[in-house]
Amino acid sequence: MNVDAPTAGAVVTLTRPQVLRLQQAIALSTVVFPFLGAILAGVLWFRNGIGAVEITSLIAMYLVCMLGVTVGLHRLFAHRSFKTGRAMQALLAVAGSMAAQGPVLFWVSTHRRHHQHSDREGDPHSPNLHGDGLKGTARGLWFAHIGWMFDGNLADVGHYAKDVLRDRMLLRIHQSYLLWVFLGLLLPALAGGLLTGTCEGAFLAFLWGGLVRVFLVNHASWCVGSVCHRFGTRPFATQDRSANNYTVAVLAFGEGLQNNHHAFPASYRHAMHWWQPDLSAWVICLMKYIGLAWELRAPSAQDIHNARAR
Ligand SMILES: [Zn+2]
Ligand SMILES: [Zn+2]
Repeated sequence: MNVDAPTAGAVVTLTRPQVLRLQQAIALSTVVFPFLGAILAGVLWFRNGIGAVEITSLIAMYLVCMLGVTVGLHRLFAHRSFKTGRAMQALLAVAGSMAAQGPVLFWVSTHRRHHQHSDREGDPHSPNLHGDGLKGTARGLWFAHIGWMFDGNLADVGHYAKDVLRDRMLLRIHQSYLLWVFLGLLLPALAGGLLTGTCEGAFLAFLWGGLVRVFLVNHASWCVGSVCHRFGTRPFATQDRSANNYTVAVLAFGEGLQNNHHAFPASYRHAMHWWQPDLSAWVICLMKYIGLAWELRAPSAQDIHNARAR
């Protein structure tokens, strides 16, 4: 099968093994470089302390990229849980791509396959298919967190993401993936340089708003697939081992309420109560309030009651 590779600029048609090797190389860079950046940031913090540039660049870029993933790639494109205009779609797709979790088609198709086969044969990143005991649990958690990206088990985009394939704008954003990842590293560096007027400011903003942010956003998101399919509460009797984990819900803006989400995958909100942490749902509500989102899908109180009773 030939697939359009997620390259910056021109469309390059590659064979499946080539796509696989490219995907694994990108995944390795995504895991290794932010990890090294986080270590360097920790050393510099220990030696020199931490300032406003580091903190603001990290918080701003964490917000933009995590919301790009949760509101954009997940709730809008993978589940179509609400509608929004074309400009907002483009912004969310770019913000989600800047997170460096893979291009739009890869993210959407992998995620839809996860829902179709959740914790069964065919799930691309289940922690529950690697044996029992401590060893099986550890192996499963490692696979669900990071190992799956090197497994070579790509979801068929033609099967799982036809709607994205047909959308020329989303396809172009998908094909320019590396450009958006670099933009996500460049933006904080530019802002840091402009605001402080120094190269040191630009470097620190790049380090914290770029590498440390990729490290933190991605590990929080990967915890949704690993930790939240093992540890937490299960108010709904779903066909999988999805669980509500409140720590991950805070860090991943609501995505940690994974048992709620698997019970109602098409819902724009994962929280079933006002007190459950779901920043992404609050942002979508705000978007609706100012006219940027409409046709929000959510279960009725009766649906929730019936699902609990089951
Ligand atoms: Zn899940
Ligand atoms: Zn989902």
